[in-house]
This record gives sequence, structure tokens and C-alpha cells, in this order.
Amino acid sequence: MWEPTKQAANKRLQSFVSKAGKIYAARRNIDAGAGQHANVSQLSPWIRHRLILEENVLAEVSAKHSFSSAEKYISEVFWRGYFKGWLEHRPQIWTWYKRNLTQQAQQLESDADLSRRYEAAIDGRTGIDCFDHWAEELVKTGYLHNHARMWFASIWIFTLRLPWELGADFFYRNLLDGDPASNTCSWRWVAGLHTKGKSYIARPANIEDFTLGRFKPTGLAEQAIALEEPELSVPTPPQFPSEDFPSDRYGLVFHDEDCAPETLALPNLPSAALALSDPSPRSVFSTASLARDFTSNAVREAARTFETDTGIQCVDCNDSNWSEILEDWVNSEELDALATVRLPVGPTRKRLLNACSQLSIPLIEITRPYDRAVWPHASHGFFGLRKQIPGLLAELELC
Ligand SMILES: Cc1cc2nc3c(=O)[nH]c(=O)nc-3n(C[C@H](O)[C@H](O)[C@H](O)COP(=O)(O)OP(=O)(O)OC[C@H]3O[C@@H](n4cnc5c(N)ncnc54)[C@H](O)[C@@H]3O)c2cc1C
Repeated sequence: MWEPTKQAANKRLQSFVSKAGKIYAARRNIDAGAGQHANVSQLSPWIRHRLILEENVLAEVSAKHSFSSAEKYISEVFWRGYFKGWLEHRPQIWTWYKRNLTQQAQQLESDADLSRRYEAAIDGRTGIDCFDHWAEELVKTGYLHNHARMWFASIWIFTLRLPWELGADFFYRNLLDGDPASNTCSWRWVAGLHTKGKSYIARPANIEDFTLGRFKPTGLAEQAIALEEPELSVPTPPQFPSEDFPSDRYGLVFHDEDCAPETLALPNLPSAALALSDPSPRSVFSTASLARDFTSNAVREAARTFETDTGIQCVDCNDSNWSEILEDWVNSEELDALATVRLPVGPTRKRLLNACSQLSIPLIEITRPYDRAVWPHASHGFFGLRKQIPGLLAELELC
């Protein structure tokens, strides 16, 4: 279903774009089952790794539909930029999530009841047929419809009473589109932590309607439990540091957060290019091979495209020792600086900044105009960003 190439992403966009208007708005909430998701674009694995850019998707949709008929689809695409920007304003959320996850993984070892309930949930053995079906679909395909993700997360938190972080981790290490911002923030949104006190309760009638009668669950929680967490600090607007290159002799580094380096506005072509992926697990638990392979092949695809477009050979490294690899490469290529696409909050940012901190040359992060324009509007609720969408589309020349 999802081949990690730009061609496959474009092909999917072309086959979907005619439906991105009123048809999408009317049918997008229906989850007809695995292999039956043509009512939504299913572009998320490619968009997540930027094998296709939000700008391309929005421009293509705007060329075929009026804003009013495609508004629903367009605003869904902006939800991704919203969550990315929201996390940029509050990086501590990612730190807390990782810390809590580590503690809960330890608790699984000492708490037999928690461990039994957790294993039943991820193996699809809870006896709640829709939930068990989605657990299996996720593991088998690496994808779930948005509505199924909402129902699944809600049942996980409020009916099964499992910690939300363990559920977010189960998604993150199985989804082809597993993303630190979209995934963590969406789980927090369902849990009532994103908009304080506003949680999402999965209703049996809603599940029955929108799964076209495939499921009629009983015994689901009717009330949300209030989850607690420490007060968040005041959001800090994302900074966009200088992108001045100290020298022409720089190396370009690619990673899983952005696999379209050939579309960057660079002052001059780099002297060398390096594509880095990491085979180590995404969390304390193992990563599904479907998700791991999609990511490493997406980075490889970036390297191949860049080489073809520029003629510059790109070294492709799938190895966890980024510090050593970078040091050897910088020395052998005699580089004066490194450049990379802006690293959003998440594990790749942490890993690459750690590796670069041991080098004596600067790392220049190039922020895409789309992120530079969207993120500042993601300080609070989505409504604040939604009001800006027509203006953003015009500013970015996407309509
Ligand atoms: C609990 C939970 C976890 C999620 N985890 C992820 C994740 O790890 N990665 C991820 O990309 N999305 C995540 N989502 C958001 C959403 O479910 C998927 O983006 C969407 O289902 C992907 O299918 P699609 O491409 O057919 O979407 P479409 O409906 O066709 O939407 C088009 C594009 O808009 C973006 N988008 C749509 N809805 C959302 C949303 N609510 N939040 C952010 N972006 C959105 C995606 O890039 C998507 O490809 C999560 C949602 C929930 C409720």
C-alpha cells in the first residue's frame, strides 16, 4: 500500500485530488475497514517524512477545488502543521512523555495486572471486538483511519484505563506516519490534556454508524476520567536562527523528518551530502519492521533523488552511531559547516544535535517557508490557526 517513494506519493495524490472537495467533507469520517480507506487521502506516511510536502498537496487541491469546497481537507492538512508548531512552543511535552513512558515500562515489569491488561490490548485480546480489530489492523498495515485512532485511544484511556503514554507508544512504533507531534498531541487531545478538561469519549452509536455497522460495541466507558499533569510552562515561540552560511564548503545532512532536500532554497550546492537513518528502536519497546523500513527507505529515497537532481554523490548511512559517522565524514570531506532542514522537536533533533555538538563546525538549520509561516500561529487552539488559513495559502502562493 505505501511504497516509500516520491512517485508513489504523487500517484496517490493524483488519484485522490478530485475527491478532496465535497466528497471528502461528506465521507471522511467513515472507516470502512482495512483496504477500504479511499474516502481519505492516506497520504500521511509520505507527508510525515516529507516525501511529499504539505505545500504540494495544498497547491494541487487548491488548483482543482474552490477554497469553500475543499476547506475541510485543507484544514486537516493544517492540523499537522498546528501540532508540529504547538510542540515547538512546548518542547517539554515531548520530554515528559518520554520520561513517563520509561517509568511505565518499568511499572509493567513489577505490576502483573497492568502488564496483563497492556499485553491483551496490544495483542488485540480485550474482547472489545472493534478495539481488537484496530489493534490487528495497525500491526498488520501500519495505518489506521483517523476515526479509528480516536476511538482506539479513547477506549484505551477511559474503558481499559491504561496509561495514555503506553498507547501513544504502541501507535508511534507501529504507524508508518508515527510522528512525535501529531501522535503525542492527538493522544493528549483524546485524553483531555490538550484542551484542558475536553476529552473525547468513543460512543457505541457513533462507532456503529461510521464503521457502517461492522461493530456494535457494548460496555464502553460513558464518562471520561480527569487526567492530571503538572502545569505547563508559558509557551515559548519557536526561534528561527540565522541561516547564513559561513563558507561555500558545507555538507548537507538528510534525515527522516524531511526527505525532500532537493526542494530547499540553498545559497549554493553543498560539497557533500549525507543521509542518516537510525535502525535503533523508537522507544523502550521494539519498532515494527514495517514502520522502521518505511522510514529508512524514505531517507534512502531522499539520497537517491538528491543525487539524480544535483549529481552530488550522497552517502547513505543506516547506523545508530551518528557521532562517529559525522566526525569521519566532516574530516574526510574537509567541511567548514553542516546544513540540514530544521529539526522539529523529537528524537531525530536530539540525536543529530548531540552528534553535532562534538564537532568544531556550525550546524545551520534551514526552516521551510511553510513551517516558518504556520508554526507561530500554533501557540494556542487550532481555531487561531484556522482563521489564518486563507491568508497563509495566499502568502505561500498555494492558491
Ligand atoms: C490518537 C491519534 C494518533 C495520531 N497519530 C498520528 C501520527 O502519528 N502521525 C500523523 O501523521 N497523524 C496522526 N494522527 C492524525 C490523523 O489520524 C492522521 O494524520 C490521518 O488519519 C492520516 O490519514 P490520511 O492521510 O488519510 O488523512 P486525511 O484525512 O486524508 O488528511 C490529509 C492529511 O492531513 C494530515 N492530518 C489529517 N488529520 C490530522 C490530524 N488530526 N492531526 C494531524 N495531521 C492530520 C495528515 O498529514 C494527513 O495525511 C493521529 C490521530 C489520532 C486521533
